[in-house]
Order: sequence, then structure tokens, then C-alpha cells
Amino acid sequence: MQESIFDVLILGGGPSGLTAAIYTSRAMLNTLVVAGNPTGGQLTTTTEVENFPGFTHGIQGPELVSNMRMQAERFNTNFADENVLKISGTAKTGFVVETDAGNIYKGRSVIVATGATAKWLGLESEQRLKSKGVSACATCDGFFFKNKVIAVVGGGDAAMEEATFLTKFASKVYVLIRNTEATMKASKIMKQRAMENSKIQFVFSTEVKEVLGVDHVEGLKVFNSDKNAESVLSDIQGLFVAIGHEPNTKFLNGFIDLDQKGYIKSNDITHSTKDGVFVAGDVADYRYRQAITASGLGCMASLDVIKFLAEN
Ligand code: NDP
Repeated sequence: MQESIFDVLILGGGPSGLTAAIYTSRAMLNTLVVAGNPTGGQLTTTTEVENFPGFTHGIQGPELVSNMRMQAERFNTNFADENVLKISGTAKTGFVVETDAGNIYKGRSVIVATGATAKWLGLESEQRLKSKGVSACATCDGFFFKNKVIAVVGGGDAAMEEATFLTKFASKVYVLIRNTEATMKASKIMKQRAMENSKIQFVFSTEVKEVLGVDHVEGLKVFNSDKNAESVLSDIQGLFVAIGHEPNTKFLNGFIDLDQKGYIKSNDITHSTKDGVFVAGDVADYRYRQAITASGLGCMASLDVIKFLAEN
């Protein structure tokens, strides 16, 4: 078992945690990133990132996150590629983090940047064709589907927003919803906007059973519960899964306040409900969910931590 005391404990090794680490380490604060295992967050499961400023010709997601980590290491950030199991303490007594490697880390302040995980349908074919036509991020991957026919799964606001956004690129977008028009989850305005778009075709009472194709998407096998029948949508070349995200906050229960969906409640952007505990990235932000916004929020949290430590 290993014990250490740090100025800042950053929980999470994605863009928000790593950006925060660059700033706190560069401000000469002894920083430990408990970076998760596997580490790197959602960027590690994407291919090309074309919208992170500074990379004229784009950059692979895993390379971008690995560059951020090397940049933090340059300023002597410490890393533990371990998962946090438990956190306790206060700003007065100090914070204590326990990990799945059996280590205990102590810190004067904490930035929680553990991100969120996109929910998937749970099909073998979906996982096999991820980044080969199957995606959970329209902003990230929509561009690769110019003039193609694609499908979005989900009946919430995110699915409506993604489908509408994807019509900029795709020639046709199916929206596959397991509920009926009357019981679908999206807000009235988002639903109406999508329904008025001539490129979007809604398909209700329908679930995806299999994504067809070997190394790219060549159609979908679907089940319609009204007709009690399976069929194949053979013109589909891409599938966007928009059935919600789950924030990685289970270990925070009882430590700081979470909202109904498990996202961290924050005040003044980066402050959690506990003094000395700050928050950055998708773990508190269900709205923007971009690498650049996560990085920006990581920067903001680190500046607030630097100020907090100077004042305390
Ligand atoms: P939601 O939880 O609101 O919706 C998820 C949707 O996916 C539901 O239609 C759900 O169906 C469906 N779904 C879940 N699991 C499956 C499955 N296995 N197979 C098929 N369908 C499934 O998540 P969102 O990500 O859409 O939104 C999250 C939050 O973010 C919401 O509060 C939303 O309002 C907000 N948001 C706001 C936006 C805006 O205002 N611009 C944009 C995007 C999101 P069912 O109803 O049957 O469970």
C-alpha cells in the first residue's frame, strides 16, 4: 500500500483532467491524476478528431489524449492508472482517495473529471462496427457521412438534435424509436424541429436487432413491435446511437450532491457542493460533451483550484 499527499488530486484521465493537470502542475502544485484503467476516456474510442482547434488536418483521438498526457508529464504531473473506489474528507482535514489497486492518496483539493460513458445498445455487431460506421457522437463523426443514408437510434432530445445535425451531411436520416409518437421522450420543440425536416424519416415502435456488415455498416435488422415482425433496412450506411449517457459518479454518492441523473451539481461552473472539490467536463456537463469544452472546463477548474489553495 502506498500513501502520498498532493496539493491537487485530479480524478479522470480524459481531456478535462489532463488539461487541469497541465495548468496545476505548471503552477507548481504537486498534482496527481488518478487517471482510470483503461485510461484516456471517450477520445480513446474515437478515430479521427477534426474539430479540436490547432490540428489543421485532424488528429486521431488516442493520439490527442496521449499528447495531452505527455504535455502534463513535461510539468511533472504524477499519474496513477487506477480507478477510484471511494473518496472522503473535507478541505479542513484533507481528502482521501482509495483506488482499486489498493492505494490511498491524500490531497488538499480535488478536481472530479471522471466523464460520462455513452450508453450502447449492447449488440455484438454494434461493438464490432464501432468507428466503422457506428458512432455515439454526431458532432464528432457526422462529417464522414456526406451523402449517405444513416440511422439514429433514440427518442430523446439528444436523438432529435443529432438527427437534425446529421441532415447537414447525410442524404437521408432514419430515426428509430422503440416507443410510439405519443410516448417518445423528446421535448415538443425538439421533436417538431426534427419532424419538419424533410430529410428525416421517423420509424416508431422499432428496435435494432443487428447491425449488418463485416468491416462497414451495410444495413440494419430491426424489429417492429406493432407488426411483430423483423425486417432489414438495407440502404443504411451508418448508425448513430443516441440513447443517453451515464456520468461516472457512482463512487461520489453521499460525498457531494448529484442531480437526478447522477451528474454532479455545480455552482459557478466548477464548484461542487463541497468546499475544495471542483468539477470539470462531461461528469457535470450533459449538454456540450465535446473534447474542447471538457478541456476548457478543466482549465477553468484548475484556475479555481489554484485560487482556492492560495486563499486557504
Ligand atoms: P434521454 O434519457 O432523454 O433519452 C434516451 C432515449 O433513448 C429515450 O427515447 C429512450 O427510450 C431511448 N433508449 C434508451 N435505451 C434504449 C435502447 N436500448 N434501445 C432503444 N432506445 C433506447 O437521453 P438524451 O441523451 O436524449 O438526453 C439527456 C438529457 O439531455 C435530457 O434531459 C435532454 O433533455 C437533455 N438534452 C437537451 C438538449 C437540448 O436542449 N438542446 C439536447 C440533448 C439533450 P425510452 O423513452 O423508451 O426509455
